[in-house]
Amino acid sequence: MMESALTARDRVGVQDFVLLENYTSEAAFIENLRKRFKENLIYTYIGSVLVSVNPYKDLEIYNKNHMERYRGVNFYEVSPHIYAVGDNSYRSMRTERKDQCILISGESGAGKTEASKKILQYYAVTCPASEQVQTVKDRLLQSNPVLEAFGNAKTLRNDNSSRFGKYMDIQFDFKGAPVGGHIINYLLEKSRVVHQNHGERNFHIFYQLIEGGEEDLLRRLGLERNPQQYQYLVKGNCPKVSSINDRSDWKTVRKALTVIGFNEDDVEELLNIIASVLHLGNVQYGEEDGSACITSDTQIKYLARLLGVNGTVLTEALTHKKIIAKGEEVGPLNLEQASSARDALSKAVYGRTFTWLVNKINTSLTYTDDSSKHYSVIGLLDIYGFEVFQHNSFEQFCINYCNEKLQQLFIELTLKSEQEEYEAEGITWEPVQYFNNKIICDLVEEKFKGIISILDEECLRPGDASDLTFLEKLADTVGGHPHFVTHKLADAKTRKVMGREEFRLLHYAGEVNYNVNGVFLRCVKTVCVCVCVCVCVCLQVMCMSENKILNQCFDREELSDKKRPETAAAQFKASLAKLMEILMSKEPSYVRCMKPNDSKQAGRFDEVLIRHQVKYLGLMENLRVRRAGFAYRRRYEVFLQRYKSLCPDTWPNWQGKLSDGVATLVKHLGYKPEEYKLGRSKIFIRFPKTLFGTEEATVI
Ligand code: ATP
Ligand code: MG
Repeated sequence: MMESALTARDRVGVQDFVLLENYTSEAAFIENLRKRFKENLIYTYIGSVLVSVNPYKDLEIYNKNHMERYRGVNFYEVSPHIYAVGDNSYRSMRTERKDQCILISGESGAGKTEASKKILQYYAVTCPASEQVQTVKDRLLQSNPVLEAFGNAKTLRNDNSSRFGKYMDIQFDFKGAPVGGHIINYLLEKSRVVHQNHGERNFHIFYQLIEGGEEDLLRRLGLERNPQQYQYLVKGNCPKVSSINDRSDWKTVRKALTVIGFNEDDVEELLNIIASVLHLGNVQYGEEDGSACITSDTQIKYLARLLGVNGTVLTEALTHKKIIAKGEEVGPLNLEQASSARDALSKAVYGRTFTWLVNKINTSLTYTDDSSKHYSVIGLLDIYGFEVFQHNSFEQFCINYCNEKLQQLFIELTLKSEQEEYEAEGITWEPVQYFNNKIICDLVEEKFKGIISILDEECLRPGDASDLTFLEKLADTVGGHPHFVTHKLADAKTRKVMGREEFRLLHYAGEVNYNVNGVFLRCVKTVCVCVCVCVCVCLQVMCMSENKILNQCFDREELSDKKRPETAAAQFKASLAKLMEILMSKEPSYVRCMKPNDSKQAGRFDEVLIRHQVKYLGLMENLRVRRAGFAYRRRYEVFLQRYKSLCPDTWPNWQGKLSDGVATLVKHLGYKPEEYKLGRSKIFIRFPKTLFGTEEATVI
């Protein structure tokens, strides 16, 4: 039989895109990804950035042997893997004593959450452990099923889609053992509690409870074992998902809650709330003389018991509003107002319970050893990627704004700092042009004249503020901005694809039209000021709840008129600013996840879809900068220390100038003058030798 003429490189491509001959060609880039994907090589580097393509099947590359292979081994010595990224961050943290963060991005279904779980598992298995540390490891791992139960849902794009952003710090002691953790959550998609699009579901926990909850538990909660009975679960017409086993997931979650340290009371109170949301959804209204009234008191009876509130007061709250203008006077709600007040209450209850849950997990992950408060940190960021739908609203606006900020951080920390480092080291090279998206970040967030400021002002302005006045104000204030377009200002061609109630932002990743119609302002206002007065009454009732969790979630203070309410947009902006601060103080690593097709199928590589992702993840630009520069750099003393044994002139010690020793060493290793540069304090190597191989790379 003839031997295959294909060389390994032809077959599996290159494991680092910097090695592509035709590195400016997007087609060559995609072809390399495709080749590797076909060979189940889902990971490829761009320098130190890991690109990952979701295989949609279980690969035998995550077992203990694999973990061992990556442990303590240099990035370039083994084939690309998520474990290499985890290990590299861990080693840098240990040896350079610098906090690290791993930023995982990509669109829905690309594999971000799986990647972050794999890194966590890697640490749980490979880091040193004691008995106390074992508890922390277990809790860190078990926080995942709990957060996923309450914060993930089946969507059209992903059966286990995270509907919140998550940043998790893992804290390590001086021995390198994980000793604690801390989670920050971002922007839970609360609207899902009351509405799901066709083919989508509510958060997993509802189905898990109904399918898996024990008989007497369901009886106590007044629930039936049939999701179709609940208004909040029928909108998507999708009670069952083939890839999900709600019943066994329920068991996992129950166990995880115990591991994390929830006692029976906590669990009971928590489930009372989950059941209450389902009962709230089933509260039906009728109409009497134009006012809403509740037609059956079955739900109210359960709600009163489960929430620990007075039934009559709750009924009153769900059908009446305070009329601000007339002081404390109470007036009836009409049908529409009453159901939106009910839904807003459900969203508020669920959203705040989620935040409570995160806080509770954080308490259980708190590092308690007082003898040494000093610990190092690796942060994992698993956050929604850039989103463009047919109809984009406030939620997409926030998500895409978040992605602009992350891109800005990427530019600051990678592209810009790369160029600055060459300058600082006195290395000559051709600067690479890249698009700095700061201009878009400013457009969104600048004080007084940014979109969020204008939105804030409109939301909090009493009187006739509406979606359209907001749009007008936008046009007046930022109308001339090169990245902003409204219908009125658009050219004829753009106008054709834009609605009158839309504005368009030219994001770094592409154009998105945002619709301000109705939901925009409503979403932006916190519950206290929006559907507002009606919900205010409901919130007052929640403040009286005997449910201990709700009692902590609803604070009387916020209802007082003294406090100027903060809009959701302002809150989000502030939380992003804090996130950027956290990330800026750490050394970043990047994982860029991609999905190969829209049908969740193994083995199918949809080039159009991949091209789109290559574009908005900015991978070509990333490669250009990396390629123009030097893939490897080390301080002279570190480099000499590590490799001096490879050259007789530098072994056992080099006596002269450090740079001379390094020069002697690299020459001895066979590097030609054009392959490396000596800076003021570091050596830069364009491509370390080992990179020239295929999968089996060896030490430098
Ligand atoms: P979202 O933004 O919707 O939360 P995501 O990027 O977090 O999406 P994941 O939930 O991590 O996406 O992945 C979606 C699905 O893809 C997983 O449930 C799993 O079935 C599959 N998957 C992802 N990564 C891998 C992997 N490395 N190996 C095998 N399957 C994977
Ligand atoms: Mg996810």
